[in-house]
Amino acid sequence: MAQAVKRLFPDVKLAIGPAIEDGFYYDFAKAEPFTPEDLVRIEAVMREIAKTDYPFERQELPRADAIPFFRERGEPYKVEILEGIDAPRVSLYRQGEFVDLCRGPHVRSTGEVKHFKLLASSGAYWRGDERNPMLQRIYGTAWLSQEELERHVWRLEEAKKRDHRKLGRELDLFIFNEVSPGAPFWLPHGWTIVRELERFVREALDARGYAEISTPILVNKKLWEQSGHWEHFRENMFLVESEDQIFGLKPMNCPESTLVYRHALRSYRDLPLRFADMGRLHRNERSGTLTGLLRVRQFTQDDAHIYCRPDQLQDEITSLLELVSDWYKTFALDPFFKLSTRPPKSLGTDEQWETAERALHDALKANGLAYDLNPGDGAFYGPKVDIDVQDALGRRWQLATIQIDFAQPDRFELEYIDSDGHARRPVMVHRAIFGTFERFIGVLTEHYAGAFPTWLAPVQARVLPVSEKHTTYGRTVWEKLRAARLRAELDDRNEKLGYRIREAQLRKVPYMLVVGERESQNGTVSLRHRSGEDLGAVPLDRVLADLAREIGSRASGLTVGRS
Ligand code: ZN
Repeated sequence: MAQAVKRLFPDVKLAIGPAIEDGFYYDFAKAEPFTPEDLVRIEAVMREIAKTDYPFERQELPRADAIPFFRERGEPYKVEILEGIDAPRVSLYRQGEFVDLCRGPHVRSTGEVKHFKLLASSGAYWRGDERNPMLQRIYGTAWLSQEELERHVWRLEEAKKRDHRKLGRELDLFIFNEVSPGAPFWLPHGWTIVRELERFVREALDARGYAEISTPILVNKKLWEQSGHWEHFRENMFLVESEDQIFGLKPMNCPESTLVYRHALRSYRDLPLRFADMGRLHRNERSGTLTGLLRVRQFTQDDAHIYCRPDQLQDEITSLLELVSDWYKTFALDPFFKLSTRPPKSLGTDEQWETAERALHDALKANGLAYDLNPGDGAFYGPKVDIDVQDALGRRWQLATIQIDFAQPDRFELEYIDSDGHARRPVMVHRAIFGTFERFIGVLTEHYAGAFPTWLAPVQARVLPVSEKHTTYGRTVWEKLRAARLRAELDDRNEKLGYRIREAQLRKVPYMLVVGERESQNGTVSLRHRSGEDLGAVPLDRVLADLAREIGSRASGLTVGRS
């Protein structure tokens, strides 16, 4: 691509061009941005270069010789890179008239590069620093086969269509307003999803011996000093002054959770204590980095802190991992586990780290879970398991985390009285499974392309009378749905039936219940799925029973009307 750009725009200077996941980019110093027509021309020249089949020739030379070489070629960015490299020798790659500084390796010749496409161009600062000159970046992608290339391009287009910011508007889920950057205003439909997820969390945690607490949002800086956030996290906190005291909006729930632990004398028999706290959190992310629901300033985690004895740690982790796998199954998301171990700088004793790392490792094994090991990537206060999920487009998102913490129990002097009467420190585990409700809903919206399973769908069914004559029966059906606590709507507007069906489909309403003459006589409805499938006449009682079962089991597919 860089060779093609140099042929078409000889004055352009080369900056850097790394490979990235699923493709590559190159940054060029050029006064005017590349236009879409430029990309078409560049791609055409790339095809010529591939066809000519230039061999890639590697050349190694002393760094001191490479600097004048690129200076003579009028490439100041290459000179700057070379001046910053700490190696005596460097390598160049040459193809035809083009030569570039590159570590390699390369394929043998340009003829091997067959299945590629340029995707986009944008401005980018040299070395990512806004004080540096603005360069022009071109993104592209390359694959081993045409089929893989097409699949990738399809995935990119599908991801654009599924963008949760776009679907959030179309489905009336949430809005953002400049008066509160990075904080969603949930609309009734979006808030319904939040409430369903909260209900899901509470049901599961009640059944697993958690206790839910709620702690203040505005907290005196004294607490943040004790927890260490004042020293390490202050830039990310919003501060408020009142009566000569400084308060911070809580960026996490942990320190306050320890106050709840400490408020009573705890015995070894009381442990484990599991405190869930779905408190509203604030972090001062830079406004330029905020992205829809994926990166926000205000959010709520499905957070909990577990306090246990060291001998209980492994059982706790085992049941947490089970919970993670179980929850994600409900959403048809595949989890991937990563175990991060002790970093070079860390708190805690060798014995604490060994016990904790072994507990995480053994619990992963006990659950039959494969995992990647990230040695030295743990937090300074303890090892952790991070969990990514893979969505319907094969994209990975990091959502859940299970972290063992030796630091907070020390800082807050947490104790329990052991069976021998001595006071001991409990182990603290932080864990969130959805991560934040905001981000999780952003991911789910894209994963489902807005077509939420019935239990999560803001509107679960819409009743459509064929014409005005059937409104009375339509209203009866609607009232029965509502009496069964379903989220149902009646669309008896004076519009053609076909139009109203299409609109319900665009709103991704799982079920449409069409009612006309025959249906009102037989006590049935004519059932349609949002996919467009027409299931014909189904007795209303059966629709109600099937819907109750589908929603009650939080099924991911649409099952009503299929026998
Ligand atoms: Zn925590």
